[in-house]
Amino acid sequence: KLGSFDHSTFWKGNRFPSIKAKSFGRISMAVAVNVSRFEGEELQPYVLKVVKKAENLMLERGENKEYLPIEGLAAFNKVTAELLFGADNPLIQQQRVATVQGLSGTGSLRLAAALIERYFPGAKVIISSPTWGNHKNIFNDARVPWSEYRYYDPKTVGLDFNGMMSDIKAAPEGSFVLLHGCAHNPTGIDPTLEQWEKIADIIQEKNHIPFFDVAYQGFASGSLDADASSVRLFAARGMELLVAQSYSKNLGLYSERIGAINVVCSSADATARVRSQLKRLARPMYSNPPIHGARIVANVVGNPALFKEWKEEMELMAGRIKNIRQKLFDSLSAKDKSGKDWSFILKQIGMFSYTGLNKAQSENMTDKWHVYMTKDWKNIIGRIIFSQM
Ligand code: PLP
Repeated sequence: KLGSFDHSTFWKGNRFPSIKAKSFGRISMAVAVNVSRFEGEELQPYVLKVVKKAENLMLERGENKEYLPIEGLAAFNKVTAELLFGADNPLIQQQRVATVQGLSGTGSLRLAAALIERYFPGAKVIISSPTWGNHKNIFNDARVPWSEYRYYDPKTVGLDFNGMMSDIKAAPEGSFVLLHGCAHNPTGIDPTLEQWEKIADIIQEKNHIPFFDVAYQGFASGSLDADASSVRLFAARGMELLVAQSYSKNLGLYSERIGAINVVCSSADATARVRSQLKRLARPMYSNPPIHGARIVANVVGNPALFKEWKEEMELMAGRIKNIRQKLFDSLSAKDKSGKDWSFILKQIGMFSYTGLNKAQSENMTDKWHVYMTKDWKNIIGRIIFSQM
């Protein structure tokens, strides 16, 4: 009887008249994700050797697929906070970090956005101009108001530090300041340590809450510690802060959706309360997070031999990007007689480089020379994306 059920008599007309298709064809997303996974000349997606080793260990142990608790794998949460803040950071001993495993960087940011929406009604998040394209979507969907602070200076192809400082200062007291921990996406431009100190000063002065997005720890400079220095500098001041982490790039675990949200609180008691509320938000959204990527991270970071190997592989990946930057700088400086200063290519860090080329120049590079760039920053700046391996 059910087999002959005619849906057309049941469904009358178009139930979704106002829903329009949305195109996700923004080239920068496809390029950023795909190119970063290509290996050498073979153009094959690269799986880190250390990841394969961890997976073999997991297979040998014959681990089951039981649900994780809402907050995720305990061994993962422990190592991820240690990786970020440093294992000997007093914050960890004082139990002042609420860490909850998230659905990679995006899901962790989204969970934090939900926490802000629920417990800081009306509070604003200020984000850099430009920023990673999904930040605005995340806060829009979480109904969190946001505005931009100046970041990129087209004159120097560097940081608009004064603009950034005055916009952070002008934001309503108690705003959340979204900061890229390292390897700013899309510009590749990071503040120096002295500038980070000044940014921390102004944030403290205005009673703002720093909210770090760390999607490239270790992948930017090749050193896990150096890439976490911005976050650690703020944490060392005793500030309460949020940090979303991702293992998509540094462990190449894109599709495993593994990351975490860390909230540094003022006491162990506040930490327990924040953790419980993060769990309360996660439960109706996705119940509990996936286990495979969490186990890989726990095995790699928690095993001294694998951890050492990971660091070596990461140095290789970051080193390759640095070499390409150097080669690009060398050949541009040698061949370009216009007197233009190309040193920003070396000052920038990570996978992305704002070239300072305008729309017409970028299009000329593509049409004539098949050098492909995304048009970023108000659709006028050509951006190069370096590949990982
Ligand atoms: N934040 C930034 C700045 C990013 O560049 C990315 C990825 O490109 C992410 C977060 C999130 O990535 P994922 O959700 O894959 O961890």
